[in-house]
Amino acid sequence: MITNFNSSCIISLATPNGIGALSIIRLSGYDSISICNNFFFGKDLNNQLTHTIHFGVFKNESVIDEVLVSIFRAPHSFTKENSVEISCHASTFIINKIIEAFINVGVRLAKPGEFTQRAFLNGRFDLTQAEAVADLIASDNKTSHQISLNQMRGGFSNQIKILREKLISFASLIELELDFGEEDVEFANRKDLQDLVNEIQLQINILLKSFKSGNVIKNGVPVVIAGKPNAGKSTLLNSLLNEEKAIVSEIAGTTRDLIEDTINIDGINFRFIDTAGLRETNDQIEMIGVSRALDKIKQATFILYLTDLTVTDQNEIDLVKKDFTDLNGQLIFIFNKIDLVQPEKLEQFKINFPTGIFISAHYKTGVEALKSFLISEIRKDLSAIGDVIISNSRHYESLLNTNKSLDNVLSGILNGITGDIIAMDIRHALYELGLITGEITNEDLLDNIFSKFCIGK
Ligand code: GDP
Repeated sequence: MITNFNSSCIISLATPNGIGALSIIRLSGYDSISICNNFFFGKDLNNQLTHTIHFGVFKNESVIDEVLVSIFRAPHSFTKENSVEISCHASTFIINKIIEAFINVGVRLAKPGEFTQRAFLNGRFDLTQAEAVADLIASDNKTSHQISLNQMRGGFSNQIKILREKLISFASLIELELDFGEEDVEFANRKDLQDLVNEIQLQINILLKSFKSGNVIKNGVPVVIAGKPNAGKSTLLNSLLNEEKAIVSEIAGTTRDLIEDTINIDGINFRFIDTAGLRETNDQIEMIGVSRALDKIKQATFILYLTDLTVTDQNEIDLVKKDFTDLNGQLIFIFNKIDLVQPEKLEQFKINFPTGIFISAHYKTGVEALKSFLISEIRKDLSAIGDVIISNSRHYESLLNTNKSLDNVLSGILNGITGDIIAMDIRHALYELGLITGEITNEDLLDNIFSKFCIGK
């Protein structure tokens, strides 16, 4: 934990800079209440209780505004320090004048995330919870909101803390053995340690698995629409988005680049990406489009392979299955233009391709069913994971490293390696778990995390 932390007074606008009715200016630091009192005319703020709001005039050389001042006394504030929130009228002139008044008496402008950083350093919450504050502010859909809220309320930290505590008790037993040096004693039962490591790895693996979904939900589920030119990809994208985003044309090869847009289905953001038609081409620009399409296909969670029912055959499907082998995501065949085929032929197709989805992108038939299918697949993934979902790559990396050290512990036990080596691997696993919650930290890591916050948070 960093100790040279200084609790001088910091100030920042906490609401967006722009047109609005009201703005909030936030101060934190030991002297924040008494400094504010010098500019506030109404009551003596030094005598007011915590969590009270006061009306008065903010005056420097002349009256600047009529304001409301909220008082929070340490440790009952977000930062656990004395804090003040000044609610004023949202004029840039007023805001600047108020902030300037404080700066002139030695208050410092807060750095991005500095209020949250102080809250963390003063022990309000651990690092994962502090990071969740940023995610919560950035969340733009129901599911990412739930993930960050759960993390902010300590769901993830508790799991990590429990794992860490279990390992710490074993580490101390093994280290005790080391104190006895030559005398071949074994305080830490190796079978128990093995069971514990297995149990911890089981939980870590569930968390690691959740990252794929967590990350995808945070950034939007990537769905690629692929297929031959003229299959109807742009038309499908427009139907999904309910707008004319992509150019629809009868001339093959119209979509030369990627068109991407996000829609929210049932609380989850999906990023639909329309790709350049996949066909052999000599056109330079189209070739770039095709190669970008292939990259996107590899990264996507869902690959909707669209075919034109009037021209497709078993051969095309077999070729696609053969070509698209090293995908991360799920390949789904969509048969388009059902309005152009006879009902009997359509029935035959449905029998031949029971897992396919049959639509008319142009008439929007089956498009809602396609959306429902995608959402149910994602929900299936989420329910297999459990309550705690990780969506932060820093946490993911530390969990991967913890797992590697635990693998070493296990192989150490199996190979009868000496206690000091096993103790070292356990300590390394503990270190990685400690990095996640911030029990172990360093200034660079903190600067990196908090600089991503907005100013005023
Ligand atoms: P892309 O090259 O795969 O993006 O295909 P487009 O979306 O540009 O569509 C190619 C042509 O097929 C256009 O003339 C569309 O109007 C037509 N089209 C797309 N979907 C359907 C459909 O469901 N039914 C019919 N009848 N025509 C469609």
